[in-house]
Amino acid sequence: MLATTEIIAKKRRRQELSAGEIEAVVAGFVRGDVSEGQMGALLMAILLNGMTSQECADLTRAMLNSGERLDLSHLPGTTVDKHSTGGVGDKTTLVVAPLVAAFGVPVPKMSGRALGHTGGTIDKLEAIPNLTTALSPERFCRQVAEIGVAIAAQTAQMVPADKKIYSLRDATATVESIPLIASSIMSKKLAVGADAILLDVKVGAGAFLPEADRAEELARTMVDIGARTGHHTVALVTRMDQPLGRTVGDAVELAEAIATLQGRGPADFAELCEIIAGHMLALGGAADSPDAGRAAARQGLASGKGLPKLQELIAAQGGSPDIVNNPEALTQDTERVPVILPQAGRITAIDSRQLGLAVRDLKREAGDRSHSCGVLIHAKVGEEVAEQPAATVVVPAGTAAVAQPIIDRVRKAFRVGDSVPPKQSLLLSVVGS
Ligand code: URA
Repeated sequence: MLATTEIIAKKRRRQELSAGEIEAVVAGFVRGDVSEGQMGALLMAILLNGMTSQECADLTRAMLNSGERLDLSHLPGTTVDKHSTGGVGDKTTLVVAPLVAAFGVPVPKMSGRALGHTGGTIDKLEAIPNLTTALSPERFCRQVAEIGVAIAAQTAQMVPADKKIYSLRDATATVESIPLIASSIMSKKLAVGADAILLDVKVGAGAFLPEADRAEELARTMVDIGARTGHHTVALVTRMDQPLGRTVGDAVELAEAIATLQGRGPADFAELCEIIAGHMLALGGAADSPDAGRAAARQGLASGKGLPKLQELIAAQGGSPDIVNNPEALTQDTERVPVILPQAGRITAIDSRQLGLAVRDLKREAGDRSHSCGVLIHAKVGEEVAEQPAATVVVPAGTAAVAQPIIDRVRKAFRVGDSVPPKQSLLLSVVGS
């Protein structure tokens, strides 16, 4: 086996690393035998010189081997996981996980918390009092076996290499590397170990990757890793130019997800849920094709088919299922500040990143009342505003005055003008179906 310095030099010379070499460096780094300087140098060599498909799969396996894995093999049927690379107002998991499970396809879902300007599914679910997302592996698997769905926070024991490598990537300007992003995401998916995986790769101003060609490359790389590790993986590349739906914030997004499960969701968000659920139903064998799955999902949303499953999930994880009948209770003790734009006209853009960061900062200010903070969007791109507010900011009662500078940032996220961009389809491409 080569010494660590020789492995780094090999990548620097653009030569392909073997599975054993990659495993040795990753395992050594987690143990502390490989220094941060050495790992940082290798990460930079990977960012600059890339990795072959085989190397990406080997890096994913090496990261996966660093921690615990779930064993879902006893679950009947084809289990289907879902992952989004992160967006603003992206509450899709809260709709599609119970909806797909209601069709008999088991959905074991480990989710993340908010990261940067993007929200996290776990924070949104935890807006429900007493609900826990800290499920032991045994409880997680039991719940999926019993009711067909669980949404839990990723545990520290799963893929510890990712946590360590991710913080070093942050410190070494190597976050943007496609092989590193792909192996980071896929190692966490493989640790859960569902049979099939549906990935939603976001692209646009509000996404982690703004350029379509990079998003497509990430999608292809992850689908390829899935294939090389025996997991049927499909990736959708979808637009994230403006917030998804009409809410941003934990409790308000949860309420919008519930409304969507009742067939009352905003058009763009409901459409994305139908597309994603359609693919998941096809992957899970409950539909003959993604199109047939989409038609079934549309009907399922219209008939409220997924709502009882969300109630079962909430009850199994310690919350009160009655919350779906009155989600407004979660934002009862709040004040609402209308956001009036200085000029009337059509909305030409909503800066999702700024909006997402403003909501993050509202939550930070609100401390233990953070779940009630959010923004209700009344005017999306192409829609007209005159004197009426473009949005409403929701903050804990008694805090609007202190939150005013952040509320001003919400107003600045809305642009008004004459040149409304043409309406574009939400789905850019499908990789791997
Ligand atoms: N999400 C992840 O989990 N990892 C990355 O590297 C980027 C986004």
